[in-house]
Amino acid sequence: MKAALLTGIRQFEIREVPSPKIIKETDVLVKIKTVGVCGSDIHYYTTGRIGSRVVQFPFVIGHEAAGIVQNIGNKVTRVKPGQRIAIDPAVSCGHCDQCKAGRENTCRELLFLGCPTQLDGSLAEYIVTDERSCFPIKDDMTFDQAAISEPLAIGVYSVERSILPQNADAAILGIGPIGMSVFHVLRTKIVGNIYVTDKLDRRLEFCKMLNPKFTGNPDKINVVEKIAELEPLMMDVVYECSGDPAAIAQGIQLLKPGGTLVIVGIPEVDEITFPIHELRRKEITIVNIRRQVNCTQKAIDLLASGKINMDSMATHHFSLEEIQSAFELVANYRDGVMKAIINLD
Ligand SMILES: [Zn+2]
Ligand SMILES: [Zn+2]
Repeated sequence: MKAALLTGIRQFEIREVPSPKIIKETDVLVKIKTVGVCGSDIHYYTTGRIGSRVVQFPFVIGHEAAGIVQNIGNKVTRVKPGQRIAIDPAVSCGHCDQCKAGRENTCRELLFLGCPTQLDGSLAEYIVTDERSCFPIKDDMTFDQAAISEPLAIGVYSVERSILPQNADAAILGIGPIGMSVFHVLRTKIVGNIYVTDKLDRRLEFCKMLNPKFTGNPDKINVVEKIAELEPLMMDVVYECSGDPAAIAQGIQLLKPGGTLVIVGIPEVDEITFPIHELRRKEITIVNIRRQVNCTQKAIDLLASGKINMDSMATHHFSLEEIQSAFELVANYRDGVMKAIINLD
């Protein structure tokens, strides 16, 4: 089969590699149709690592995937050959303390598609994964929509985990695909005003379809002052979706006493300092988000019911052969890209 191998920093090669095989009785062989390019893939592409997770080249990345079941192991009951599915990229062990506590996302033996030293990614014609990662989709759901359910699930989980009072005023710092996912989910809840910041004006424009109270670019204006003018009591919840340490600092300033800072974005640095006295005096709750747990089906249902429509998120489409162009586009934030999608035959 063909696979896109990351062979070095900012370097892909399409190579012929052996197809994966069904080994365990719960394995499912999936023909991949669609893969979304994620910010975490871009981290591996531009720097070869996220924190201590370092890529050993060559390696197949990619995890926001959807496809068609090709073959199944003897004990598989969730899916049948020919079935169209969305894929949850996380494969938990099912028996450690974390899994037993319903925290599969922090499983002690967690394996994740396209994560260095764990599992090969989905930027290939076929993958094998556990049946628990396979989520059937309805006939009228597109593979693009199914792939977008992966980042949307993180939005669903982030909102679930935040302490969100009714009519809460909230800010979203960083309105890329994950920030948009959070925003879409907030629009299904009873919330007050939503304030959005990003360093890319085109992204601020893009999110206006969801009717934010305010959008601002922190490179151009003092976003904390501006938001304070409009909402003197400040925010109940701030979703930090940019990974920028400066945004985390702004988020803390934007919160009212008793507010919640939800850290969703992945920083490029290893350590960030916090204003401990401000956190203490305002008694801020910090919630960290590690991907998601139990939210894949919820995300699929939100898309299938039409409660959330994220079709316009898929701004650019590429073939597997065009993978390098897709990653350069996203890495350089060119051409107003929100989500680049790789479509396989
Ligand atoms: Zn992702
Ligand atoms: Zn486990």
